Amino acid sequence: MTIYNFSAGPAVLPKKVLEKAQAEFLNYNHSGMSVMELSHRSKEFDDIIQDAEALLRELMQIPDNYKVLFLQGGASTQFSMLPLNLAKGKKAYYVVAGSWGKKAYTEAVKLSQTIDFEPVLLATSEDSNFDHIPAIPEDGIDPEAAYVHVTTNNTIEGTSLYDLPDTKGVPIVADMSSNILAVNYNVSDFGMIYAGAQKNIGPAGVTIVIIREDLLNNEPALSSMLDYRIQADNHSLYNTPPTFGIYMAKLVFEHVKELGGVAQMEKVNRQKSGLLYDFIDQSDFYSSPVKQATDRSVANIPFVTPNTDLDKAFNQAADEAGFKNIKGHRSVGGMRASLYNAFPIEGVEALLAFMKDFEEEHQ
Ligand code: PMP
Repeated sequence: MTIYNFSAGPAVLPKKVLEKAQAEFLNYNHSGMSVMELSHRSKEFDDIIQDAEALLRELMQIPDNYKVLFLQGGASTQFSMLPLNLAKGKKAYYVVAGSWGKKAYTEAVKLSQTIDFEPVLLATSEDSNFDHIPAIPEDGIDPEAAYVHVTTNNTIEGTSLYDLPDTKGVPIVADMSSNILAVNYNVSDFGMIYAGAQKNIGPAGVTIVIIREDLLNNEPALSSMLDYRIQADNHSLYNTPPTFGIYMAKLVFEHVKELGGVAQMEKVNRQKSGLLYDFIDQSDFYSSPVKQATDRSVANIPFVTPNTDLDKAFNQAADEAGFKNIKGHRSVGGMRASLYNAFPIEGVEALLAFMKDFEEEHQ
């Protein structure tokens, strides 16, 4: 049975990358050691992390005045690290269009009880279960604010922010965890971008931070590990970094480059997700909670059947048929197909055939 992995993360990785890692597993580059056994201060690992950074810079066309950091703690650590470094004494705006954006805002509010800054909820669509991207009141933005935080892809709800607000010079900070390298954004439109690796980049354990140099903190930020300036000055080697994850990220970056880069990824992702959206839209049986086509994610596509019993039956039958991890997030139910870069189009075609059969059987 062919297995298709629809997991929202950790997610499917390119088979070619896994095979390359397997081939090099015991003896990396004639070193006689596995990548996992290399010192993070060794020449071999230094080449790996430098190549990884250079490739990411090339793929995302990251300007020279941005630092690229390979950190730990997941995107969730960034929810606190960001205000800790950037927000001191200022306002920090949050656009909350999904559960993860809400977590980012909630963490900021929590931190503001200890650190002097003012988190402000700029826009939210929570009252309609985050089924759309809310309008952003650009006129309400104080030009002296530290940043405007957005989530470019709402992993659980399946919406995306494609058109950035005009923030009148206030840096936009984006949680790009679930569509980094899947949708082509212009890095210079952002002050900072962060993303957990476990969707489009590699295994869990690496967090990418891309930050404009002038936003690096000038004062120490509570703890060295949580200090962007210290992490940048030490080229992400302040402590022992997640070496194997960074190596895997490097292999994925090479692979994405070989396939034609981010624009090509976005094109294919639009094709893949388009097949599924078109099918859902013509069906009387399946429906998408995201009605506005312009808000729809190309990475995570939630859908439901006419009732929760049928959703349950669908999830069970799909799992038995090799469509793994298609169950919706525990907070929203239904189904969710995550079609990240490494997810093959054949998997979407197979899913559509399965959905058709299930519909006929249960109509
Ligand atoms: N932000 C977004 C948009 C996410 O999808 C996730 C994880 N699914 C997170 C943040 C949290 O990431 P982590 O588990 O790496 O902390």
